Amino acid sequence: MALTPGSAFAVDRPARIDFLAVIPVRTCIGCRRPAAKPDLVRLVWDTAAGAVRVDRRQVLPGRGCYLHPGCGAAVVKRRAVGRALRRVVDGEQVATLLAAEGLT
Ligand SMILES: [Zn+2]
Repeated sequence: MALTPGSAFAVDRPARIDFLAVIPVRTCIGCRRPAAKPDLVRLVWDTAAGAVRVDRRQVLPGRGCYLHPGCGAAVVKRRAVGRALRRVVDGEQVATLLAAEGLT
């Protein structure tokens, strides 16, 4: 939504604007819906292991991607991890990982 300075929205609802400004938003790779970053689980490529791993604290280096805790099945079906991480990933490994982490 475009905000014009001095518009009714900006004047009447400053709290909403502050909220949008401070909560980082990421798109879930399973359902493609944007969500608050803390509500999503991060996946990252683990170079040492040569595999995808779950980064629940969202602190590991490297390119990451995000999903809702319940969107794992859609992620596997869409093969979304490889696309998001821009790597060739093992779909079986991702499926096993997400199932083991309770994300499906
Ligand atoms: Zn989702």
